[in-house]
Amino acid sequence: MARNIGAACRRCRRENLKLYLKGDRCYSDKCSFERRAFGPGQHGQARFKKLSDYAVQLREKQKVKSMYGMLEGQFRLTFAKSEMQKGVTGENLLINLERRLDNTIFRIGFASSRNQARQLVRHKHILVNGKKVNVPSFLVSAGDVITIKEKSRANTLLNENLEAVARRGVPSWIELDKDNYKAEIKTLPNREEITMPIQEQLIVELYSK
Ligand code: SF4
Repeated sequence: MARNIGAACRRCRRENLKLYLKGDRCYSDKCSFERRAFGPGQHGQARFKKLSDYAVQLREKQKVKSMYGMLEGQFRLTFAKSEMQKGVTGENLLINLERRLDNTIFRIGFASSRNQARQLVRHKHILVNGKKVNVPSFLVSAGDVITIKEKSRANTLLNENLEAVARRGVPSWIELDKDNYKAEIKTLPNREEITMPIQEQLIVELYSK
């Protein structure tokens, strides 16, 4: 499956925001955004000139794409789906992004980053309602129960991630049963529960041009 393999920290510095793409490193003093909070490249430290409306919209879209580790094609497809759903397109988009299985695994705390979560899914460690699902873009629904396959529960990294859950927290739309490597989607997230600084309206405006 195609994925973005560009330097993760560079993307944070480009967007001037911590995107938490590298798991535990993002919470440590090794985070390169903390050490070099200016743009990447030769002119990174120069003051940014005023951005045009188009550039502001484009940067917002690139930021959200990087956050969820998606490529343009997948992102556009998710947007198209969101447009066809009832309700506000921007909110639908964010909710659909949150519902992705790789994001949900990250939110539960089974993985320390979305990249790691994607790997867990691709390597068939995840069961949804008792069935193996190895598609990171699978959308979870209210009532779904997500578990770690019995044989995979001894995985050291997974257990370390679960230990770190207390520090990162689990969103209110998910109920985690840490001891049984199980989580239930209580309800789908609503816009207020997606607390990252995202102005989804800018993405809608960009794609409506
Ligand atoms: Fe971004 Fe994480 Fe790298 Fe920090 S360590 S710059 S938050 S990817």
